[in-house]
Amino acid sequence: NLKDMVRRSAAVRSTKHGVHRGMSSVTIPPPACMLRPLEVPFRYLFGPGPSNVPPRILAAGGRPIIGHMHSEMFGIMNDIKKGIQYAFQTSNNMTLAMSGSGHTAMECAVFNIVEPGESVLVAINGIWGERVAEIAERMGAKVHTLFKTPGGHFTNAEIEQALAKHKPVLFFLTHGESSAGLVHPMDGVGDICHKYNCLLLVDSVASLGAAPLLMDQQNIDILYTGSQKALNAPPGTAPVSFSERACHKMFNRKTKPVSYLLDMTHLSNYWGNDGKPERIYHHTGPVSGFFALRESLAILAEMGLENSWSHHTEIAEYLWKGLEDLGLKLFIKDKDLRLPSVTTIAIPEGYDWKELLAYIMKHHRIEFTGGLGPSVGMVLRIGLMGYNCNKANAAMALAALEDALKQCRKSKA
Ligand code: PMP
Repeated sequence: NLKDMVRRSAAVRSTKHGVHRGMSSVTIPPPACMLRPLEVPFRYLFGPGPSNVPPRILAAGGRPIIGHMHSEMFGIMNDIKKGIQYAFQTSNNMTLAMSGSGHTAMECAVFNIVEPGESVLVAINGIWGERVAEIAERMGAKVHTLFKTPGGHFTNAEIEQALAKHKPVLFFLTHGESSAGLVHPMDGVGDICHKYNCLLLVDSVASLGAAPLLMDQQNIDILYTGSQKALNAPPGTAPVSFSERACHKMFNRKTKPVSYLLDMTHLSNYWGNDGKPERIYHHTGPVSGFFALRESLAILAEMGLENSWSHHTEIAEYLWKGLEDLGLKLFIKDKDLRLPSVTTIAIPEGYDWKELLAYIMKHHRIEFTGGLGPSVGMVLRIGLMGYNCNKANAAMALAALEDALKQCRKSKA
């Protein structure tokens, strides 16, 4: 019988290779940590992301998976596409979610739009412009930059001047600069770019759902976001959309994009956007991540974008007032330029910002963060996004900060 056959063949194998039955060829033992259960502490994620994931989205992500090429999965991906079109306010056919975090969408946009040697203009007023400049440089673009220190923003006249000078094929601007807490004015930028035959790429990872952004009306050619901020899905998927102009440029290139995984020729087929009757395997998408993303887009659709924007503003204003009542200074002076989802506070004099953060984490289980990239040492950041964005959480954040300010005062001031 089968059992005997298996036993006999195992005996033959072990004598042939000099390994005795009952002994193992494994030399690395199972690690002790793997024999203990997974432990995840509870945290209030009030930093710039990820934010806490509501039970409804966690449950969607916990549903039994199906195959990434099953027709039902394609149906779910079609729903996601519609949800993104709503969230972005676009009717672009070339709308999909990347398998990966916000950086994946960032690289996808640059790799597919730009060919080596082409000129790119990047607005740097925090870390995200720095990242895009580096990504473009790595794939061989000629990178030009517009620069402001964190908290600064660019006038349309400054942008136009740089476009006229450098004649880029792509201009990058961050809508919600999460390292500085700035929401960048968008009106007119798209029109200026098109006047100079340049495509406009916008990062809305930190701002989508929290601050008004209208892809089609604002003439944005490529827009991307992340799943883990105001959308409240787990990290790991990143919505992105390309206008017809962007599609024309990326599907008429002379060279292939440097990345196979991020090649939009393949991704547009995977997402059923290329009009071909058959979808061909390219990579295995994050099925559970897509379930969760669909649920988060459904929640946004139920709430309504305008309600979501005004709700974020209302809670942010409550937080800003509370911070000022504590004697703190907000990093972005102009209220209209403050990002409602991520508030930046100038580090109060006489305090060690790392000690404040550690105290708040230890005693309140709350994550706030310091700056990022060029804003390190300049700011503390509090993010209240989507599910986390409510008065009770804002009050809890303020109470924790008040307590830390009492406990962590430094004599060295
Ligand atoms: N852009 C902005 C504005 C962000 O806030 C972030 C994440 N902090 C990213 C891009 C990068 O996203 P991810 O960490 O998901 O790759």
